Amino acid sequence: MDNCIFCKIANGEIPSAALYEDDDFKVILDLGPAAKGHSLLIPKSHAANLYELPDDLAQKAILVAKKTAAALRDGLGCDGLNLVQNNGEAAGQTVFHFHMHLIPRYKNDGAGVSWKPGKLTDEEKEEILSRVKVSL
Ligand code: AMP
Ligand code: ZN
Repeated sequence: MDNCIFCKIANGEIPSAALYEDDDFKVILDLGPAAKGHSLLIPKSHAANLYELPDDLAQKAILVAKKTAAALRDGLGCDGLNLVQNNGEAAGQTVFHFHMHLIPRYKNDGAGVSWKPGKLTDEEKEEILSRVKVSL
């Protein structure tokens, strides 16, 4: 993909601080970290979002995320970690090349990864269960 910043980072055209790299993925430090060690897991091949990500890469992505999470915990001594993945502008996506955020969390770090809980009504529950069909 021409003009995709994460394609350029993944293929080394733009320098980055990489924690991990293999044939399929690069894990880099985010330039605008929410907390110390905020990292991005980026596939080397272009997929705009989770919907476009090939199944084999989706499977591998969670494994690389798991290993990276443990390395961040062991290396930085964080107290927790958020895995965040945005799809679409409405969800806060700003770079349209699939990526996962790994955000180490520290007690009272003030990093805002949260939402205000609503309430699931019976009506809404029934509607959602009748409309959403998941299959592998
Ligand atoms: P999102 O809002 O989920 O699309 O996240 C995009 C993330 O990419 C943000 O957290 C940015 O700080 C980060 N980012 C953008 N450009 C770069 C870059 N050149 N190197 C590292 N991180 C970047
Ligand atoms: Zn790309």
